[in-house]
Amino acid sequence: MPDPHAREPDDPRTAFSIPMQTRFRGVTAREGVLVRGAAGWGEFSPFAEYGPAECARWWAACYEAAETGWPAPVRERVPVNVTVPAVGPDEAERIVAHSGCRTAKVKVADPGQSSADDIARLEAVRGAIGPQGRVRIDVNGAWDVETAVRMLDELRRFDLEYVEQPCATLPELAQVRSRSDVPVAADESIRRAEDPLKVSAAGAADIVVLKVQPLGGVRPALRVAEECGLPVVVSSAVETSVGLAAGVALAAALPKLPYACGLATMHLLTADVCAEPLLPVGGYLPVSAPEVDEQRLQAVEIEPGPWQERMAAARREWRRQAGPEVAP
Ligand SMILES: [Mg+2]
Repeated sequence: MPDPHAREPDDPRTAFSIPMQTRFRGVTAREGVLVRGAAGWGEFSPFAEYGPAECARWWAACYEAAETGWPAPVRERVPVNVTVPAVGPDEAERIVAHSGCRTAKVKVADPGQSSADDIARLEAVRGAIGPQGRVRIDVNGAWDVETAVRMLDELRRFDLEYVEQPCATLPELAQVRSRSDVPVAADESIRRAEDPLKVSAAGAADIVVLKVQPLGGVRPALRVAEECGLPVVVSSAVETSVGLAAGVALAAALPKLPYACGLATMHLLTADVCAEPLLPVGGYLPVSAPEVDEQRLQAVEIEPGPWQERMAAARREWRRQAGPEVAP
């Protein structure tokens, strides 16, 4: 059996490919690299279309997890939401009832679906989660401003916690915010470290959705949260339990965590690399140091060559961007 401790960040022999349960952003399998360093396990899993400039931060996040470790948590577990995809009301009710979560995120405005479909789904979710539960919706930028204002007015009776990315652009989000009293969260508008500051400056959102890998690690994400001054919902990039643990570490280190996080995504993958996958219990994920299970890893391992090259390019780019005095 290979010694995982012998694996260096420069020499990732542990590339993986795990099929998704269902297609997600055109992706049918999540691929990446796992690295074991002095501090623990790190995951490097940028999406296939990202070049070295974008991958640099993903590399920095992996390095932090493997070599530096995460800042101390201020809570032992983090609340997570159950996600309800664009399914019918019966299935929506079943998903929420089985989740144990007190917050549900409901996908609306899916292509090929009507607002009547969305309303039926929301009715089922509100019924299943009860009056004390929280219900948020995710539009993925599909509405224009007029549709957003009209729909949010119509959906008022479901007592929405917030609406995630109702429109595509910052000026549109700002308009929706000024014309509706449902809080607005920015997700797709945040892809780089400077984006939350732009969102905040544009008055475009009440809440920001932050992910660890695209922001370059838990510490950079904490700085972004502090600088933009808005409440944060920590979300995953659909990682293995190793990557999800970094999201939990961020959520656990935030001074305030008023909203449940979008980190309950392990079930979107058909397999995991940890013996104890990060699945929610009673609506919470525990703060934990992920431990890779060699047998589980071997079951999903792929030829590491292309990932070695990708990681080396990301590291070079990170050194170029950040400078050798801060970049390892
Ligand atoms: Mg979203």
